[in-house]
Amino acid sequence: MVDVTIKGAGIFGLSIAWACLTRGSQVRVVDPYGVGAGSSGGIVGALAPHTPENWNDKKAFQFESLAMAERYWAQVDAVSGLSSGYGRTGRLQPVSDARGLELAQQRAKSAESLWEGQFTWRVIPAVDAGDWAPRSATGYLIHDTLTARMHPRQACASLAAAIQAKGGDIQTEAEDAGLIVDATGWNGLTQLSDEVGYPIGNGVKGQAALLAWDAREAPQLFADALHIVPHADGTVAIGSTSEREFDEPTTTDDQLEDVIARARSAFPVLEQAKVIERWAGVRPRARSRAPMLGAHPTRKETYVANGGFKIGFGMAPKIGEVMANLLLDGTDTIPPDFRVDANFRK
Ligand SMILES: Cc1cc2nc3c(=O)[nH]c(=O)nc-3n(C[C@H](O)[C@H](O)[C@H](O)COP(=O)(O)OP(=O)(O)OC[C@H]3O[C@@H](n4cnc5c(N)ncnc54)[C@H](O)[C@@H]3O)c2cc1C
Repeated sequence: MVDVTIKGAGIFGLSIAWACLTRGSQVRVVDPYGVGAGSSGGIVGALAPHTPENWNDKKAFQFESLAMAERYWAQVDAVSGLSSGYGRTGRLQPVSDARGLELAQQRAKSAESLWEGQFTWRVIPAVDAGDWAPRSATGYLIHDTLTARMHPRQACASLAAAIQAKGGDIQTEAEDAGLIVDATGWNGLTQLSDEVGYPIGNGVKGQAALLAWDAREAPQLFADALHIVPHADGTVAIGSTSEREFDEPTTTDDQLEDVIARARSAFPVLEQAKVIERWAGVRPRARSRAPMLGAHPTRKETYVANGGFKIGFGMAPKIGEVMANLLLDGTDTIPPDFRVDANFRK
């Protein structure tokens, strides 16, 4: 017997399957293209927080999810015997001017309470980061200890193997059975838009590159709007482009070469590092720009989990939890801004 069928084996579908399974449900994940075939099969994997100020539901939800991630991925990897590449290695960001420095110092104070004394946001002299310092016009960097990294493709493989090890089923096709969760990424947003008759969300293409450079314990960098993420396997990911208009969802082009050049300029250590993979995928962006979670607007016994956009991996542990609360206990712990109807035209 199947209690919950989850359509979509991306990080949203898999994390909901895992949460339901660990609460004793029989789950089946169905994806005609396989595990991590969509935007979750990528290479970047920055689990980076919003700035610690102007707190709201979205930031609080993301903080909880990032805080629980270390234990979450340790459990998943212990069951699967694989590595998600998770590590709370922190992040460095250059401070570009005097106003930025002032703001960074204010945020260091607000982080003390908003991050509940568990993690820090500090301003440090760039020289303290040695060779690993990005270029900084002020000579200062922000160092935070909440940011983590994991390898998206490896994390999906680990989660899928853990689901199967615990008795969950993953198929490329199967009949609907039990409650249905539609976690079909940007295709699902397009289909839902057609059903309700106006754009409820869309896809935003991203291109990223993987470099051969072993800095596995070093903090990730955020500079010139780029994520530079050292992975546990001796590679460094660089991302990403953000394209609302695109013809080919999975091809790379000159826009990626520009990203690579900008990353090497912001961070000269990588000048000689060889590019070993170029990758593109399409992020699911809900109209509200927040995750879209809850009952399906037109289909009975069906739920939607979508809209991960640029931070789907960071949100996934907590999204699994609130969706399992809704599906299995009927308890709605979803923040109002994340509800499906938050995307309806007002
Ligand atoms: C370049 C790039 C860089 C990114 N960097 C980061 C980052 O650093 N940190 C971060 O947190 N996030 C990042 N993201 C965003 C993150 O990848 C997404 O938020 C996340 O993958 C969304 O997961 P999902 O499961 O909703 O969608 P997807 O991974 O797209 O999964 C949807 C799945 O549904 C399947 N499907 C489609 N139609 C059907 C159907 N009819 N039936 C069944 N299955 C179907 C597809 O095959 C696919 O496997 C990045 C994304 C990109 C593209």
